[in-house]
Amino acid sequence: MARRTPPVRRCVGCGVREGKDSLVRVVRSPDGEIAVDEGGKAPGRGAYVCPKKDCVQELFRKNRLAKALRVSEIDEDTRDELFARLLHEDAE
Ligand SMILES: [Zn+2]
Repeated sequence: MARRTPPVRRCVGCGVREGKDSLVRVVRSPDGEIAVDEGGKAPGRGAYVCPKKDCVQELFRKNRLAKALRVSEIDEDTRDELFARLLHEDAE
């Protein structure tokens, strides 16, 4: 019997279930700002994604991330920033 099973979360991109540590959390803070939550503990509504290009791209198809975070849409600047942060690419 497995004890202390790590919490499992579902990737919004590909739908795989993974241990929380394998996924990156994106959070909508109580004041409505959307950002990558590096520590995984920021307050607000969170969504999880694999730190892989395929999954991150999938987030922005069909408004998946917006739906997961219960916002109507995600503006382009936020999207670019999330993309860069999630994939550790430079935003410049
Ligand atoms: Zn995924």
